[in-house]
Amino acid sequence: MENSCLFCRIVAGEIPATIVHRTETTVAFRDIDPKAPTHVLVIPVTHHADVVALAGDPAAAADVLAAAAKVAEIEGLTAGFRVIFNTGRDGGQEVFHVHAHVVGGAPLGPMLA
Ligand code: IMP
Repeated sequence: MENSCLFCRIVAGEIPATIVHRTETTVAFRDIDPKAPTHVLVIPVTHHADVVALAGDPAAAADVLAAAAKVAEIEGLTAGFRVIFNTGRDGGQEVFHVHAHVVGGAPLGPMLA
């Protein structure tokens, strides 16, 4: 846990979040500023700054992907959805605790519009 990390503090329950799904190794909660009808963030409970760091922990990476798939099931995204890891400055990453955006619930259009 990193005290200065917003998402570590959500894991610890110090900052409120609307939890959609939780496992021993992951937490999924609703994005505070949703960009689609469903917009859920899936994070590992362990602090990894970005998806490159997460790739160095294959078990945690697999757990995040499994949780993302479970969120899509819970949210009823049977017509499809998108899983996004914004990474670094050019990738638009704002919170440096890796998170998968699970977005769906409406047609999302081309990815690079
Ligand atoms: P990034 O740009 O990929 O780092 O995405 C960060 C996301 O975190 C954005 O979509 C924000 O709306 C979201 N966010 C920031 N603070 C909170 C919070 O306290 N709870 C839930 N989502 C948050």
